[in-house]
Amino acid sequence: MTAALPLPPGSTLGILGGGQLGRMLAQAAARLGFDVAILERETDAPAGRVAAHAIVGAYDDPAALKALADLADIVTFEFENVPAASVEALVKLGVEVAPGPQALAVAQDRVDEKSFLNANGVATVAFAAADSAESCVEAAAQIGAPCLMKTRREGYDGKGQVWVEHAAGAAQAFEALGGRPVILEAPADFVRELSIIAARGRDGAIAVYPLAENHHEKGVLRRSVAPAKVSATTAAQAERIAHKILTGLAYVGVIGIELFELKDGSLLVNEIAPRVHNTGHWTQDGCEVDQFEQHIRAVAGWPLGPTAARAEVEMLNLLGDEVDGWAKYAAEPETRVHLYGKREAKPGRKMGHVNRLRGPV
Ligand code: AMP
Repeated sequence: MTAALPLPPGSTLGILGGGQLGRMLAQAAARLGFDVAILERETDAPAGRVAAHAIVGAYDDPAALKALADLADIVTFEFENVPAASVEALVKLGVEVAPGPQALAVAQDRVDEKSFLNANGVATVAFAAADSAESCVEAAAQIGAPCLMKTRREGYDGKGQVWVEHAAGAAQAFEALGGRPVILEAPADFVRELSIIAARGRDGAIAVYPLAENHHEKGVLRRSVAPAKVSATTAAQAERIAHKILTGLAYVGVIGIELFELKDGSLLVNEIAPRVHNTGHWTQDGCEVDQFEQHIRAVAGWPLGPTAARAEVEMLNLLGDEVDGWAKYAAEPETRVHLYGKREAKPGRKMGHVNRLRGPV
């Protein structure tokens, strides 16, 4: 059955993925009067525990997808590595999936992603694709060493990437990454890492949040400060980039766009995430309508909400046992605590975050 739009409260929204992003999406959906059905791989996952329905199964398990399709009017997802076949299966079962297959395909492959960006007038670092030890050496010579080799698919949080110091070392780097197809990227000589969270509604309306400035440690986001202090030209450039990407993908939902800011204030896109994004968590306490509600509004065909900042926010990820400091954070009047309910605090695992309100914008 095709969903009537805008999707009325009381309908059921499906979400693929049971982690913290699914949990915060489910909480936002519930606030708007929706029931949520989560499909997750493990029992007792963070999102399933706050949803009306939790289906446990693999993301490509036909029976699990059928169970989700029976419950949900529209399905969205919290991670970009959703198998294309699962989206096709859901569509065949009469369920709409948003964002759509094109956005997923582009975000799942770093070469397709950068090719799409360049074709749509969005600048990235220079890059080359390679799929053998010999072609890696050629690509490294073409790009110039040092350069960064990344697996084309399935890398995240800095995993699946290695610096190549000399073209001759590219063959070894290729083997170290498992001999899988790779991309070689020229180094971005950035002064800061920024990101922009944006949304496109079903009517084509676009809403853009203020930029965030992001700090990573060992490839993992540590903290974001937003709105980032940028020139009006840089802010306008980021908005133009978001418009080009959202329009180019005929996108529906919230997208996270990671940017490198160069010395002259110009921006390169590092990567896009077709989902709510860790660098957008500050919007929960800093903006009129946060990224989670915005995503639900977009996929449900509701009007997009206002994105203006109400406060300057420092968002800190709580990794591993840092979550044990919850009582200290809860005692700070300017701090809002968001915990994901994960049962085990493995080292480096994202267990929660806090948003520290640093005053009016
Ligand atoms: P990614 O997995 O592509 O998001 O990369 C993780 C981190 O590696 C980024 O946040 C940057 O700090 C760094 N990085 C990625 N690509 C490049 C590049 N081409 N040049 C310099 N640093 C990079």
